Amino acid sequence: MPPEPPPPALRLIIDREALAANWRALNALSGRASAGAAVKADAYGLGAAIAVPVLRDAGCRDFFVAHWGEAASVAPLAAPGTVAVLHGPLSPADCAFARALGVRPVINSLHQARLWRDAGGGPCHAMVDTGINRLGLSLADLADPLVAGLEIDALLSHLASAEEDSPLNAVQLARWQEARRMVPHARASLANSAGIALGADYHGDLTRPGIALYGGVPCGALAPHIRQVVRPEAAIIQVRQLAAGDGAGYNATFIAPAAMRVGLISIGYADGYLRCWSGKGTMRSADGAALPVLGRVSMDMTIIDLTAAPHLREGDWVSADYALPEASAISGLSQYELLTLLGRRFQR
Ligand SMILES: *Cc1c(COP(=O)(O)O)cnc(C)c1O
Repeated sequence: MPPEPPPPALRLIIDREALAANWRALNALSGRASAGAAVKADAYGLGAAIAVPVLRDAGCRDFFVAHWGEAASVAPLAAPGTVAVLHGPLSPADCAFARALGVRPVINSLHQARLWRDAGGGPCHAMVDTGINRLGLSLADLADPLVAGLEIDALLSHLASAEEDSPLNAVQLARWQEARRMVPHARASLANSAGIALGADYHGDLTRPGIALYGGVPCGALAPHIRQVVRPEAAIIQVRQLAAGDGAGYNATFIAPAAMRVGLISIGYADGYLRCWSGKGTMRSADGAALPVLGRVSMDMTIIDLTAAPHLREGDWVSADYALPEASAISGLSQYELLTLLGRRFQR
């Protein structure tokens, strides 16, 4: 047996209490609707094995993943019948898997409705497209007898521009309400995180926040309610002294203006700390000193300025400034990308 590897020199600090508090806040903001949780893409990069039990224990009873493989890892963490697969079935094998695992497929097309019926059916959700023109049944499809034959738990639709003051929101709301009159269903659901802030008309019975659970702030109205959840940390693996005029990192895009102390930290673009942070990112010492990223981020390493924290040594840890709205503005990445990029090498 090979020995267990020691812990890696990079870790993702996940504030479980903030995650639970964000769900409770979004559930309260959902009024008489319950908040579910979008936990696709490994809970937006946090790790579903960590996020799902926290959300479940906070009171969440509806979990949404995109792929069948994701359902396999989430279903054992959640109560039977509380996990749904947004992409729906593409084959009889997908339907058989859904029935064996006790997860709900989201039916997105007449083809998927037929597959589900032919597999024996059972409770499912249905997604109706009201204007995003992504996945979903059209309003015209809803008149098809195949849809009438479905046992629909939640009738879903998805907003294209919930975080903007767009006329499309009211158009989609009206079409979703029309869909609700057309097909029998136990519950109705429209709002993602930003949709919750659009008000009671958008809430239905179930809301589906994702990004805001994990600390994203898609619109100003949610800002006072959402806490930061995720913070990447990395260890200093070497300290170096630069002389005035020395370059640092690939292509020497940083030139030391004077003698200075720098640190090499164990995080790079392979971990999701992309090259757009080159010369822009900031790390913090435990006592809060700002340590700017110098030069190019490389695959496994980043160089930081240790001037403000002369006490730091090899083996000490620093944490990235990663509050999502600010990090998005600085890096040019979306808040969604900032989370889902976070790589496999972090200890979570
Ligand atoms: C991802 C997703 C959500 C969550 O959206 P956020 O903007 O992250 O809150 C809700 N519903 C569907 C169908 C999704 O695909």
